[in-house]
Amino acid sequence: MTDWTRKTAAELADALTAGETTSVELTQASLDRIAAVDGAVRAFLHVDTEGALAQARQSDARRTAGTPASPLDGVPIAVKDVLATSGLPTTCGSRILEGWIPPYDATVVTRLRAAGLPILGKTNMDEFAMGSSTEHSAYGATHNPWDLDRIPGGSGGGSAAAVASFQAPLALGTDTGGSIRQPGAVTGTVGVKPTYGGVSRYGLVALANSLDQVGPVTRTVLDSALLHEIIGGHDPMDSTSIDQPLQPLVAAARQGANGDMTGVRIGVVKELGGDGYQAGVLARFRESVELLVAAGAEVVEVSCPSFVHALAAYYLILPAEASSNLAKFDAMRYGLRVLPEHIDNPSAEDVMRATRDAGFGDEVKRRIILGTYALSSGYYDAYYGQAQKVRTLISRDFEAAFTQADVLVSPTAPTTAFRLGEKVDDPVAMYLNDLATIPANLAGVPGISVPSGLADEDGLPAGFQILAPALADDRVYRVGAALEAILRDKWGGPLLDRAPELTPVDLVDASTGDTR
Ligand code: GLN
Repeated sequence: MTDWTRKTAAELADALTAGETTSVELTQASLDRIAAVDGAVRAFLHVDTEGALAQARQSDARRTAGTPASPLDGVPIAVKDVLATSGLPTTCGSRILEGWIPPYDATVVTRLRAAGLPILGKTNMDEFAMGSSTEHSAYGATHNPWDLDRIPGGSGGGSAAAVASFQAPLALGTDTGGSIRQPGAVTGTVGVKPTYGGVSRYGLVALANSLDQVGPVTRTVLDSALLHEIIGGHDPMDSTSIDQPLQPLVAAARQGANGDMTGVRIGVVKELGGDGYQAGVLARFRESVELLVAAGAEVVEVSCPSFVHALAAYYLILPAEASSNLAKFDAMRYGLRVLPEHIDNPSAEDVMRATRDAGFGDEVKRRIILGTYALSSGYYDAYYGQAQKVRTLISRDFEAAFTQADVLVSPTAPTTAFRLGEKVDDPVAMYLNDLATIPANLAGVPGISVPSGLADEDGLPAGFQILAPALADDRVYRVGAALEAILRDKWGGPLLDRAPELTPVDLVDASTGDTR
């Protein structure tokens, strides 16, 4: 019997088209897999069994009638819990939104439904997308399928882990500073941050409006392209949405898959590598560059001197925007409401204080304090204003570098997956995970992370990042698909085939004997 959960979304779509399976069968296979392994992985905060199967039945009816709604009609998907889903809980990994059921869909979710993709459920994440490990989720961490004692990356660790553990062929993530790409790197999956404005943010609970982008989380580059073409494109509901047609992304991925890189100029960013990067991660990175050269690419070293200030600028701009965005959680209109103890006749302000104290976790509070400080009068120019200037310099560095190269490359994350608990109490150590991914968000350019191989003695994966100029997302697909094809030949199959199978033993907590 075919194990449909191991297939890529493109293969599932072909099987549906050929009448070899049904969406109900595929969706049930994913739901069964979730039931079998998610007790250990904990990728999902909410599974919508009935809703997914109902959508699958409708999809099958369309296929039978010969009127599929899209190439991926019937292929199930998981959605990060920061995206509004009408009728399904949307918590953003926070207590303050526990039990909130949005009355509307995010535009990307509307597009998934219109394209016929059954929604399996909502995936775990660091609270309000702040973090690199999912440990800041109020509902407990997600575990990396490669080693259940390690982090799956963050903030979108749930989406990445769901895809890496074959619970879902596809997922949506959001990337504000790396939350799609870094989880991709440490779980051996593919993740794409589109050009800013390329995918609608309507219905995405904002972390930092000027940085956030929704994007695909998949097992192959082609699958990301297929999904990107469904969710992308202009949306009048998002004032920052770009009113231009998407580039042909699927075509670019298919072209890249032939592995010919002749005429492609690849810029290795001097500042994204070296100190702070694990030796094995750098070794896999260099190997990948050499393979691209062997495939015909030309390599140049480029320097982006302002990138060394990217992290500092990001941790002023992001908290500034986040502190303002999170002001809406005031216990008055929706979400959690906590009445303060020991206060008779509490004022609205008392209730807000008690609610925000109980409803937000430490990392969220830390960033609200940072953000309000950076924006306060007297400090605005010194912090927020300076950070915006650095942001401009980073964009200029990109512009200059893209005159020398068609794409820029670096390791995606500086290390392989670290152990749960290792960095959770050290905010700066946590922030450093996004060293290489943040510049793209500050400049609004697109990026992909593609698995580059196993990078340490524990056999954990690393990622290769490819960045392109704004509105040239097709380039990241072309080069990403080429590298993927070349590495697959070298390895004799996809990297995820080397992940240890989650056995019934893993699914039992060794200390208690309970099912995890
Ligand atoms: N890890 C980064 C942060 O904590 C990125 C988060 C994201 O992309 N949502 O801000």
